[in-house]
Amino acid sequence: MIARVTLEIALRKEFDYLIPPELVDQVTIGTRVKIPFGPRQVTGCVTALVEHSPHTNLRAIVRVVGEPSLVTPRVLELARWIADYYCCAPEVALRSVLPEAVRKEKSGWRERLFVRSATPPGERPKLTARQEEVLAVLQARGEMPLQELVAAAETTAETVRRLEDKGLVTVAAEVSERDPYANEQILPTAPLVLDAEQTRALGAITAAMDKAAMNANTGTPGVLAAPTAPGATASPTESSSAAAFLLHGVTGSGKTEVYLQAIAHALERGRGAIVLVPEIALTPQTVERFKARFSSGPLRTLVAVLHSHLSAGERHDEWHKIRQGRARIVIGARSAIFAPVEPLGLIIVDEEHEHSYKQEEAPRYHARDVAVVRGRRENSVVVLGSATPSLESYYNTKNGKYTLLEMPTRVDSKKMPVVRVVDMRQAARLEKGVPIFSPQLKEAITQRLERAEQTMLFLNRRGYSSSLQCPKCGYVAQCPNCSVSLTFHRRDDKLACHVCGHTAKVPSVCPEAKCRNPAIRYAGMGTERVEETLTKLFPKARIQRMDSDLMKRKDDYRRALGDFKIGKIDILVGTQMIAKGLHFENVTLVGVIYADLSLHMPDFRAGERTFQLLTQVAGRAGRGDIEGEVFVQAFTPFHPAIQFARRHDFAGFYDQELEFRAQLKYPPFTRVALLTLKSRNEEKVQFTADFLKTEVEKAAVGLKDLIIAGPAPAPLLRAETFYRYQIMLRTPQMPQLSRRLATLLATLKLPDDVTLAVDVDPVNLA
Ligand code: ADP
Ligand code: ZN
Repeated sequence: MIARVTLEIALRKEFDYLIPPELVDQVTIGTRVKIPFGPRQVTGCVTALVEHSPHTNLRAIVRVVGEPSLVTPRVLELARWIADYYCCAPEVALRSVLPEAVRKEKSGWRERLFVRSATPPGERPKLTARQEEVLAVLQARGEMPLQELVAAAETTAETVRRLEDKGLVTVAAEVSERDPYANEQILPTAPLVLDAEQTRALGAITAAMDKAAMNANTGTPGVLAAPTAPGATASPTESSSAAAFLLHGVTGSGKTEVYLQAIAHALERGRGAIVLVPEIALTPQTVERFKARFSSGPLRTLVAVLHSHLSAGERHDEWHKIRQGRARIVIGARSAIFAPVEPLGLIIVDEEHEHSYKQEEAPRYHARDVAVVRGRRENSVVVLGSATPSLESYYNTKNGKYTLLEMPTRVDSKKMPVVRVVDMRQAARLEKGVPIFSPQLKEAITQRLERAEQTMLFLNRRGYSSSLQCPKCGYVAQCPNCSVSLTFHRRDDKLACHVCGHTAKVPSVCPEAKCRNPAIRYAGMGTERVEETLTKLFPKARIQRMDSDLMKRKDDYRRALGDFKIGKIDILVGTQMIAKGLHFENVTLVGVIYADLSLHMPDFRAGERTFQLLTQVAGRAGRGDIEGEVFVQAFTPFHPAIQFARRHDFAGFYDQELEFRAQLKYPPFTRVALLTLKSRNEEKVQFTADFLKTEVEKAAVGLKDLIIAGPAPAPLLRAETFYRYQIMLRTPQMPQLSRRLATLLATLKLPDDVTLAVDVDPVNLA
């Protein structure tokens, strides 16, 4: 038998090694091994076992590293699929599937000494009064870490050792887990009685789970099949078992309760579950809702949490908990989709429309789409949940790939908020200039302050003003590294680039040598300016700003939300940070300061994004007993994205948007591969882009319905000192195109200082 090994050092291929007889029992797919590579030994991961190798003179694996296979063979197959579909090297895909902390095993288990009480044979030895006291403390608990015992009994390790000598206790190294939530008190919760909509949704999901479990037991062909041959790559949405659902439930419709009960069903069937939530929504409150439900009772299990803020050690522990089957539920951000849960009964992707599910570096996978593929391969039911589904997923319910489940009303039939669109062109005329607050919104805030109700104000731009301009000569402060203007941050009194982070001092006069105009103007607005204006308008109100400038630390974020919850804050001003998932009963007013901001992005999804954002923001209002009200300030008040959001008309918006996408052959009717070339030399990158286009044309000969657009300068032409040019490919047959591109990339020679990034199904076109 021969092992095919992917190396940790980045090389765009796999290598074959002999498995020596003494290691045959230990080497399987997923095993990490030390192998000879040139004069060195390196670590790799076995990604396939083959009978024959096209190569001769194979060298042998030296030894096995660490415990056997941390990653399941099926997850490895998934890595293979990612490499194929997203057009990246296998070891790059593997890197995502196996987080570094697990791959390198640097931080092992943290060992602690544990003390247990014991009964010595024969007569009980005589103890001093002090020893009796210590023993009593221990016996009350049965066992405890040495450190804790020493502290609790106000004694020394020496005294405990005496007890050990007498056979009254045992002291042994025990593996302990780091639990990031160790100090939390968790109160168990019982399942709620579902309303009719929830009951229907849950029923469909559990029925599909039962059916899938039967298929797994009878070994339905294709489900447990061997690694997919490279030629058989499926597109992410080719779900054949119809076991993927889109749960479209308005904010507050009780989706989470449906998830919890679906998970319970999976556990009852002996299967585990993965819950994906956007990183920003992965708060202790979210995690606690899941832990609390499964912290006691017959379905008791650990809940593993995976997110980017875990230390390497914590991540390692969480992985082991999952792999050993002690944590049957995994909740986490994007990369949790690779968690080694087995058997996997259910995958939930909450807020499935969120762009943070897409990884913006190689491998550029989309966790939602990977979830659908993994679900199909492991015979697990997949539930994509959202109040504002992506157009792609909505379309998949129309063509029968997913089943649509709808929960159009809030739990307890609470009303959706009234949304009023304010025409800011009129407000501008009244005030001879563009005001930040329309009279209508000002009046509404005043009312809320009088009634001691809370307000949330939303503007998706941080800083004070978006640019610094000279009205006399037209100078605009630009980033020296990027093709964007610098944003003025008043609190830090500096100019900052929101692309590369470059900062500069604020000039007191126009820096143009011939101008030197002292009257420099701050144009455009950010959250800082909204906060300042608000403070002037409502000097008595308690106002808190919340954006990534202020909320650098998790504690700040938590404290601000806590203060808002208990009513210490009247008005919360923020960026998209406050748009998502937050639930405050006393918020009865939401204001969107400048709804047009996201409409004018050079992106075919601008309308979709605006609709989603407005709907999400509006969902923050009126979650308690008093009906909510939303003011949307806009300069294009009649734009369909704004008008459909105002009427809470999802189907209306989606159907119109689908028509537009179909006409222009954009996703979901095609798939996009975005090729971005980067270089510090603009001429060179332009030239290389032209060359690449002809190469792509050659490579794609015979592919039907391929649209090649560009090369063209990227919307963000220059970023971090690099000039960027793009070629956009659109095709209804992405797997075929990916394969052609992979072949091309393997032989393509680019100039040394030009790099190429391939992004399949991009969400960010800038
Ligand atoms: P969503 O995720 O759809 O926004 P949640 O699951 O957070 O909604 O539910 C909103 C609120 O309604 C929560 O406080 C939840 O506990 C409550 N809730 C959900 N389902 C029920 C139910 N069947 N009966 C009573 N309360 C419910
Ligand atoms: Zn910059």
